Amino acid sequence: MKTLSQLTLAVLCLAAVALPADAQNYPGGKPITAVVPFAAGGPTDKVAREIGLVMGRHLGAPVIIDNAAGAGGTIGARKVVQAKNDGYTVLIHHIGMATAPALYRKLGFDPLKDYEMIGEIADVPMVLLGNKALTPISFRELVPYVKANAAKLSLANAGIGSASHLCGLLFQSALQTELTTVPYKGTAPALVDLMGGQVNLMCDQTTNVAGQIKADAVRPYAAMQPVRIRGFKEIPAAAEEGMPGIDVKIWHAMYAPKGTPKAVLEKLTSALQAAVKDPDFRAKMADLGAEAAPADHARPEFLRMHLAEEISKWTPIIKKAGVYAD
Ligand code: ASP
Repeated sequence: MKTLSQLTLAVLCLAAVALPADAQNYPGGKPITAVVPFAAGGPTDKVAREIGLVMGRHLGAPVIIDNAAGAGGTIGARKVVQAKNDGYTVLIHHIGMATAPALYRKLGFDPLKDYEMIGEIADVPMVLLGNKALTPISFRELVPYVKANAAKLSLANAGIGSASHLCGLLFQSALQTELTTVPYKGTAPALVDLMGGQVNLMCDQTTNVAGQIKADAVRPYAAMQPVRIRGFKEIPAAAEEGMPGIDVKIWHAMYAPKGTPKAVLEKLTSALQAAVKDPDFRAKMADLGAEAAPADHARPEFLRMHLAEEISKWTPIIKKAGVYAD
């Protein structure tokens, strides 16, 4: 018969054995895969590659990007739920984590319950863009033109639940009109088609389109938020044009599969916090019209709170719009 102290000792020994040795040495130089649920070269991909580079320096291990694109980001998000929870797979996503539960009837995962939160990475504004051959040269001219020509016009997006989809919904609902939507695996390929004239309009993050706007290769009609975008002050805000309800700010964040060891999560969070403070990362984001997250947003508690707030904010808007996917 064992005494209580012998039992306590046995439990403590077992706990020590059960503590994953790898968590102590993590990442031990081994590559970390960051799943990006959109196409390579697009805005989520760009943010992921930039933050991955800096985090990799802090962690002493490369961060490799895996573009698991499709279905508005839900394929990649699901892939991470099913991934091994050892810290060598993370997810870099955007606001779609908050909108997917209302949009998908068979989502198959719960953003608040099926992941470990790591923290936020950056905030990115959106712009409504058109192909240069479109007749309207300003947002003021675009509104009546879209209303009169809705049947002929197409609007690209990155699938149901993507930021471009959400932004396009707000635009169509403000105009009380419906355009033909064309889904892509991300807005990188959509932008190619927008410039080629295969599609007419698209909402996108400045992180994807800053270069094309500066090079005058696309027509930026409006910033899809109440105020003008720093660095792009020549583009009017939708609110100035009588659409104060249009307000989409895209936030990117990092998640890990549920059950990833606490010690590993702490290392990822501290690398993320160091990375968002990194002057090169901050300058890179600013150059693309975006803002690196403040360090106190690059932590699990903030992400959990913000994700819950965003789910509550967007669910009634999406339900009212009556949009859903299976
Ligand atoms: N901009 C895309 C979206 O609309 C995502 C991407 O391609 O990164 O959600």
